[in-house]
Amino acid sequence: MQLETVPCDLCGAALSESVPYCTLPPTFPEAQEWRFRKCICCGLIALQPRPDRQSIGAFYPDLDYHAFQPDSGLKRWVKAWLNRVRVNQLRPHFPKGARLLEVGCGTGELLRAFGDVGYQVEGIEPNQAAVKVAQQQGLSVQVGNLESVVLPPQSYQGVIMKYALEHVHSPRQALTALESALKPGGRALLWLPNVESWDAGWFKSRWRGYDAPRHLYLFSPKTIESYLEKVGLKLMSIRFSPMPNDFAGSAGSMGLPAMALWFPISALAAARRASGRMLVVALKPSL
Ligand SMILES: [Zn+2]
Repeated sequence: MQLETVPCDLCGAALSESVPYCTLPPTFPEAQEWRFRKCICCGLIALQPRPDRQSIGAFYPDLDYHAFQPDSGLKRWVKAWLNRVRVNQLRPHFPKGARLLEVGCGTGELLRAFGDVGYQVEGIEPNQAAVKVAQQQGLSVQVGNLESVVLPPQSYQGVIMKYALEHVHSPRQALTALESALKPGGRALLWLPNVESWDAGWFKSRWRGYDAPRHLYLFSPKTIESYLEKVGLKLMSIRFSPMPNDFAGSAGSMGLPAMALWFPISALAAARRASGRMLVVALKPSL
C-alpha cells in the first residue's frame, strides 16, 4: 500500500497548516492507525496520510463492503420502500422525466427507484462487482469515478452523490466535474456525514462516520458550503436527518430496539441542525 499526504483540497494550505483532529484504530488489511487532521485555514478535516488512488481499492473488497451487500427478505423490502419514500421526497428538485446521474451508485437501488417513476437514470461506480449487479438489473451504469469518466457537459438536470463525496481523493475535482455535467438550473444532491454532529462529538473516535481509510474527508455545513462556492454552485438548503443510525451504530448495535432508543435524541439533534447525516442541495445558477 502506498500512502500519501496532500495539501488542503479546499484552500490549498500546506499539510503543516493543519493540526491533529482524531486518531482511529487500525483497520484491515494494514495494521496502522489512521489520523484525521484539520486545516487551520479553512477547517476542512482530511485523512493524512491516506492510501493513494492505486491503493484505496484494497479497502473495498467487492461485495463484502457493507454498502454493496445484496439484501434479502424483510431488509430488502424495507430498503426498497425507503428508497420509494426518498424518491417521492426528492421529486420536487427535478423536472418530470429529467436526466439524472448518480455518482457512486453502488448496486443501483436508488437509481432504480428514480427510474421506476419515469426519470432517465445513469450511474457511475468504481467498484466493478457492484456495477455488474446494477447492470444485471438493466441499469445503465459504468465503471469509474468523476476523475476517470468524461461526462457530457451540461447534460444532467440532477446529479446525486449519496455518501460518496467523502470517499474521493479530491472533492474539489469531483465537484468541478459535477458542476460541468449539470445543466444550468440543475441541482446536485449530496448526502454527507456531518463531522460537527452531536453523535460525532459524543462518540469521538468510535463515531461511525469516520470509517477510515475509506472516508478521506469529513465535512461540516461550513466546509461543504465553501466547496460549493469554489466550484460555482449555490447552496440551496441543508437538511439534517433524524434517523438514529449513527448513534446506534456508533454505540455498537443497529437492532430495532437500539434504533428506537436513540430516536428521540437523533430527532432532537436534527431539529438543532446537528445530526450526523445531512442532505445538501446545490443549484447550478442559470446563465
Ligand atoms: Zn484548508
